[in-house]
Amino acid sequence: MSENRLRLEGVCRDYGTVKAVDNVDLIVEQGEFLVLLGPSGSGKTTLLSMMGGFTEPSSGKIYIGQEDITDMPPASRPTVTVFQDYALFPHMSVYDNVAFGLTMHKVSKNERTRRVEESLEKVGLKGFEGRGIHQLSGGQRQRVALARAIAVEPAVLLLDEPLGALDLKIRHQMQEELVHLQKSLNTTFVHVTHDQDEAMSMADNIALINHGKIMDYGPPERIYLRPANRFTANFMGDSNMIEATITSQQDGSASVASPFGVFEIPCQFQSGTEVSIIWRPEQIRVGSDYPSEGVVHLGEAKVLEVVFQGTHRQCHVRCGAKMDHDLLVKVSPRNPVVSGDMLEIYAFESDAVILTD
Ligand code: ADP
Ligand code: MG
Repeated sequence: MSENRLRLEGVCRDYGTVKAVDNVDLIVEQGEFLVLLGPSGSGKTTLLSMMGGFTEPSSGKIYIGQEDITDMPPASRPTVTVFQDYALFPHMSVYDNVAFGLTMHKVSKNERTRRVEESLEKVGLKGFEGRGIHQLSGGQRQRVALARAIAVEPAVLLLDEPLGALDLKIRHQMQEELVHLQKSLNTTFVHVTHDQDEAMSMADNIALINHGKIMDYGPPERIYLRPANRFTANFMGDSNMIEATITSQQDGSASVASPFGVFEIPCQFQSGTEVSIIWRPEQIRVGSDYPSEGVVHLGEAKVLEVVFQGTHRQCHVRCGAKMDHDLLVKVSPRNPVVSGDMLEIYAFESDAVILTD
């Protein structure tokens, strides 16, 4: 269904010489959960704020469905924004906070009561109508802000780091609840975060932003496992990058010269191309009983440091033909590896991401 599709075309926002948002094209389908992910200062808030109508683009167009909303004031748009600091009215009850937007939209009293009750139920706050905001925990306050937002039944809900102020456990719980809520409403959500784990656990699609530009866009699995560039590979968790040069190419299999000697890897780049070969720490395997096909043997590695992390042990190892290349390797928490140990390491060709940027 495309009637409420949110579409940005060549959207820019400059602040003096700073390009806060730089020529963004983006489509968010009706009912999609899009996450805008990026480091602090990358332009996420500015981008979201242009979708909500609080910031005017320097150039470009924004559409919902067929309608050009670029110059439409926030209150006339079918969008609602939820902020990190909740922006609740501290002296009003939960009920009045949730009813506020409906009163503004001149919704009748009966309909208002119905929608407030329904929204509070959806966020798990049934029975809290009469409470004061100061009588609520951080998580409950954020639920009130959400209830207030969904009560007006927006086509697009915009969320700017809405879970940023919550502690980790509540945050994880709210991540799940938000996704559940979004799926049950089938409303389009655009959710801003700087946390890649949060983005991966919530998004249908991630738009990864840096310096106001979309660096990579797609489903979390693709972004994590097949990053389009080095920025994405680095931002989406730990990566091992091995710099190498293609020395020959035949039928989609290349020989590469690397700090690990010469090995074969499937790829299509021409001889002479400089590439980065990337394996995630969990993709570096330990042991000598590896399959004879489809594996790159990375040789011996000396363990420099081991950090126990519950689900795994993270090892910093030194390896390569000249023992001058460092890698991060994740091993099972049951593996009793200690610093000073020598490991045999390898990786699957099919796990390798090969980049030229
Ligand atoms: P994020 O939300 O990803 O942290 P922002 O969108 O807030 O990033 O900011 C992007 C860039 O635009 C930053 O360099 C920031 O300093 C600048 N910026 C944002 N808002 C303003 C403003 N009102 N005036 C001047 N510069 C701004
Ligand atoms: Mg921000």
